[in-house]
Amino acid sequence: MAKVYYDKEIADQYLNGKKVAVIGYGSQGHAHALNLKESGYDVVVGVRQGKSYDQAVEDGVRVASVEEASNEADVIMILLPDELQPQVYKREIEPALTPGNALVFAHGFNVHFHQIVPPDFVDVFLVAPKGPGHLVRRTYEAGAGVPALIAVYQDVTGTAKETALEYAKGIGAARAGVLETTFKEETETDLFGEQAVLCGGLTSLVKTGFETLVEAGYQPEVAYFECLHELKLIVDLMYEGGLEGMRYSISDTAQWGDFQSGPRVVDEDTRTKMRAVLKDIQNGEFAKGWILENQANRPVFHAINESEKHHPIEVVGRELRAMMPFVKQQKEKTKEAVTS
Ligand code: NDP
Ligand code: MG
Ligand code: MG
Repeated sequence: MAKVYYDKEIADQYLNGKKVAVIGYGSQGHAHALNLKESGYDVVVGVRQGKSYDQAVEDGVRVASVEEASNEADVIMILLPDELQPQVYKREIEPALTPGNALVFAHGFNVHFHQIVPPDFVDVFLVAPKGPGHLVRRTYEAGAGVPALIAVYQDVTGTAKETALEYAKGIGAARAGVLETTFKEETETDLFGEQAVLCGGLTSLVKTGFETLVEAGYQPEVAYFECLHELKLIVDLMYEGGLEGMRYSISDTAQWGDFQSGPRVVDEDTRTKMRAVLKDIQNGEFAKGWILENQANRPVFHAINESEKHHPIEVVGRELRAMMPFVKQQKEKTKEAVTS
């Protein structure tokens, strides 16, 4: 078993007395800034003028420009959208770095794929909560926490790992458990998970199941309930009890069908394709495509996003959800809880 770190074994000695700049005040930024502040750390938020800036002021944290916050701080956590980080870093953060500072990330993408190349005189590490920012905040307030990964990319001071652990503890993550990884592992597994299973794999499975039923003449409403709506109930059971816990609750007929047909749908061919997806992540092809897409102002992203909104499963889903006020409520609750 990998080593998992908890609160009591982490010293309050390396982040203490330092000034922490949290750059960005969005999903992760507000949670890190407020949790660290309430854990007793000296925090300044660095963000541009606008919605987030006003929110940070309202929340009572000290706010400055990205440049000012970076200049003041010893530890700089970058919580801007990944695709904007390189330009903001180059312009406003890099010039502020001095020897012994720490540059921190919540996802390894930009460092791992060399979009940000930190100078050799600063510590570089990541503290990546394995959950949405709003839960990082909500669980902290409730006395709990979201687990996190830490990784050290560059250790100039000799205390990068201890500082990373203390930062993780400060945002409440060590109440749930902190695991050590590398920038490579965090970046590649995060991208693979969201592409092959959590987001990409799942949306394609749901759509293809829906399309197969509708094409065969079944009602779209029935197909929607069967292939999308019910998924949440199944996933909740898996979350609580693994595959076994879910299979305990379904009928034996469903379980037999699971055993018989699951491997026919997701077969060796799918495994080969998953390996190809992973390879494109590992060799930088995926990263290159996404970086270029952003440089071109996302023409393909917007085109697909638009056409997806008109998919029959979305059209029928919007109508059905409008009739289920309790689902709407759930949507409000989880809107903020998007995966990254
Ligand atoms: P968000 O999109 O929620 O927040 C972005 C913040 O950056 C906003 O405060 C925004 O301010 C600010 N910002 C945008 N552009 C600029 C700019 N040019 N100058 C100054 N500030 C700017 O980001 P996330 O919290 O989703 O992601 C942050 C990092 O955390 C990423 O590396 C991501 O991979 C990682 N991560 C995110 C998770 C999540 O739950 N979302 C989970 C784990 C890791 P404004 O309001 O003005 O636009
Ligand atoms: Mg993720
Ligand atoms: Mg991600």
